[in-house]
Amino acid sequence: MQNIIIAIDGYSACGKSTTAKLVAEKLGFTYIDTGAMYRAVTLYFLQHYISLDNPKEVSKALSNIHLTFQKTASSTNADMFLNGLNVEDEIRKMYISDQVSQVSALKDVRVAMVDQQQRMGKKKAIVMDGRDIGTHVFPQAELKIFMSADMEIRAGRRQQELLEKGQLVPLTEVIENIRKRDAIDTTRKESPLVQASDAVLVDTSHLTIEEQVDIVLHYATEVVTAKMKG
Ligand code: C5P
Repeated sequence: MQNIIIAIDGYSACGKSTTAKLVAEKLGFTYIDTGAMYRAVTLYFLQHYISLDNPKEVSKALSNIHLTFQKTASSTNADMFLNGLNVEDEIRKMYISDQVSQVSALKDVRVAMVDQQQRMGKKKAIVMDGRDIGTHVFPQAELKIFMSADMEIRAGRRQQELLEKGQLVPLTEVIENIRKRDAIDTTRKESPLVQASDAVLVDTSHLTIEEQVDIVLHYATEVVTAKMKG
């Protein structure tokens, strides 16, 4: 497959990461989970009691944060490392989900993350998932997918994912968290979550993961074929 950028955006818990990971694996591309980056920043801010209302504190904290994705013996995909420590498990916990949208709404945080994401995508051959990839990080991405799904289905899937990681979270709490994040993510001033005008909308409510992956691969093949024809 010719090197292209595949941007997958959408609401929380629509299956973006699972799909993006598998698509990247099939194409031999690099998968970049931008949500993990915002989650790691949130973890650092919480650990260091950073006040979100204090721009100086935020900017100093950002200059002390070093994020990398690294493969480990136990993971098939790269794990998120914050200042040399593997934080992959910690950043998936509910207390991080509860705060991440407030942190990711800050302009300085977004500028720092987007800069890093754009550098990661320079060589193309990436599948990047998030909220603003097709609109802001890579508006020139060759393929843009926008995922959505019914709330009950999203919440059920997220609850199951958490359970598999050993966290038993009531469905009402999961729904509340997803609703809150959607609301903040879609209404924030800095690059809010919105479907790019040239993105393909995929409703994953009644799709299996395999079907979601096939849909993205189908569009990727179409894009590459059209590119080759010039
Ligand atoms: O993708 P995930 O659900 O892990 O993302 C966590 C949060 O990070 C989102 O709810 C959103 O607030 C933020 N985010 C963002 N822009 C991205 C990716 C994630 O604002 N590109």
